[in-house]
Amino acid sequence: MSQRSPHDVVVIGAGVVGAACAYYASLAGLSVAVVDRGPVAGGTTGAGEGNLLVSDKEPGPELDLALLSAGLWRELAGELGEQTEYEPKGGLVVASDEAGLDALRAFAAHQGTAGVESVEIPGARLHELEPHLAPGLAGGFHYPQDAQVQPALAAAHLLRAARVAGAEVYLGEAVTAVRTGPDGAILGVTTDRRRIDTPAVVNAAGTWGGEVAGLAGVPLPVLPRRGFVLVTEPLPRIVRHKVYAADYVADVASGSAALQTSAVVEGTPAGPVLIGASRERVGFDRTLSVEVLRRLAAQAAQLFPVLADVSVQRAYRGFRPYLPDHLPAIGADPRVPGLYHACGHEGAGIGLAPATGLLISRQLTGKQPELDLTPFRADRFAAS
Ligand SMILES: Cc1cc2nc3c(=O)[nH]c(=O)nc-3n(C[C@H](O)[C@H](O)[C@H](O)COP(=O)(O)OP(=O)(O)OC[C@H]3O[C@@H](n4cnc5c(N)ncnc54)[C@H](O)[C@@H]3O)c2cc1C
Repeated sequence: MSQRSPHDVVVIGAGVVGAACAYYASLAGLSVAVVDRGPVAGGTTGAGEGNLLVSDKEPGPELDLALLSAGLWRELAGELGEQTEYEPKGGLVVASDEAGLDALRAFAAHQGTAGVESVEIPGARLHELEPHLAPGLAGGFHYPQDAQVQPALAAAHLLRAARVAGAEVYLGEAVTAVRTGPDGAILGVTTDRRRIDTPAVVNAAGTWGGEVAGLAGVPLPVLPRRGFVLVTEPLPRIVRHKVYAADYVADVASGSAALQTSAVVEGTPAGPVLIGASRERVGFDRTLSVEVLRRLAAQAAQLFPVLADVSVQRAYRGFRPYLPDHLPAIGADPRVPGLYHACGHEGAGIGLAPATGLLISRQLTGKQPELDLTPFRADRFAAS
């Protein structure tokens, strides 16, 4: 087993969140090592969609994070290049009846107080934005700050940029121990190939963040929340925005373990239309559910009737890292000096990754973070 020279920080996880942590920490001048037991984006990042949303979040800490991230993604798009497939396409949330539209109106007005921009689109004008939408919808809201990236490419290019700034990346290497000293502070990590000494460890292990916290001796209740996505055959640009129906917001916020589906439809630069996503807590069960896929397809065809005649090429599933209050764990863990968490982002980790990485780098370098990290503290679950 080889011994590595010390690093300022070791990031566990090469998903989009770990990549963003490595990127901002490297740019801040820290010596960074990233360790992942698999490839880049081999976890949930490679199994999600790439929506960067403010439209589905109510005012509060997660929306603050999303708004900070939305600005950072815009900057990153310039810095990382076109390969991340960043598209500032905007979101369109639609309501089928007046009651649904009233609810959207109230939600959008509330979001406006927190800095979310939205414009009401009357039913008669929806087709100017989305020519293939179903007829007869009551109306909707356009959210210009919503955007999209290709998550695996985004993670890979963030890591590439981190490497250019000096980061070292160890793939195919599982962290098997997090070492602490007699005072409980972090001393380093042990992988199945080497020991890396460091005074700081960032737990960016996504859905496995609870296991990594456990290696450091502290509990963190991260659970998997399964989701399926349908991928159609490549099509011309028939869906221009990220489009979803009003009930999606309630599904996202629900804490129920039961199945929820509400189609979110989006085109991609490569041509296929992505239809996501279901939500259910069934552990790490990888069984393909025809029932879930059928429901998603039917809901998508309700929004865009033209999709009823389109072939589905494939379906994939992933496991969102779920914490019981739907907020991620971000920042220093007061229980273990030198341990930082950046995990548990559930269905929003692609969107929230840059803000998470920036805030972690601020703490690592002793600078004031842009946001108050109290709501994201990992020990908030300790009493339950
Ligand atoms: C169907 C679906 C759709 C989604 N759609 C969206 C969306 O549109 N927008 C959005 O923002 N989010 C979306 N998400 C959520 C998003 O994909 C996740 O929040 C995000 O990918 C989490 O990234 P991460 O880097 O925290 O975790 P991961 O990508 O899972 O990375 C964690 C990494 O840690 C590694 N690891 C774990 N344990 C160890 C260990 N002991 N040693 C070494 N390495 C270890 C794993 O191998 C893994 O690579 C979706 C998720 C799903 C399932």
